[in-house]
Amino acid sequence: MTATDRIFELPITVQKQLIALAAACPTEEVCGLILRSSTSFTVLEINNAAADRRYRYELEPKQLIAAFKQMRQTGEQLHAIYHSHPFSPPKPSETDCHEASYPDTPYVIVNPQATPPLRAFMLRNDGFDELILRADTAATAHTKH
Ligand SMILES: [Zn+2]
Repeated sequence: MTATDRIFELPITVQKQLIALAAACPTEEVCGLILRSSTSFTVLEINNAAADRRYRYELEPKQLIAAFKQMRQTGEQLHAIYHSHPFSPPKPSETDCHEASYPDTPYVIVNPQATPPLRAFMLRNDGFDELILRADTAATAHTKH
């Protein structure tokens, strides 16, 4: 993997939105998608369908299907999948490694209490590699509920 492979663009406005969403739900993991078009980034919140939301997340399947349908209509791309870790550092847990199923998609993990509060990882052959966040971008950010 080269250095440029590891650069992951995430506007500071999007980073702040994700940290705020995680902070608003301090005892359960929140999750969702970050979509990208040529001009903007969109944070799309998705319900956590896991049985134990304190330590796990599962993107609610119907909302996930609706999101992919929406993306086909709008031409937006899946930029990343995010979730929060209320009780542990923002890096992939053992469960995250077992359950990650999108090899070409960055995983963003947020813990508002941690320093730094937000990190991004990409699934490779033998686990997760950390990505280098780049906050500067011309694109604007939106949140959808
Ligand atoms: Zn996790």
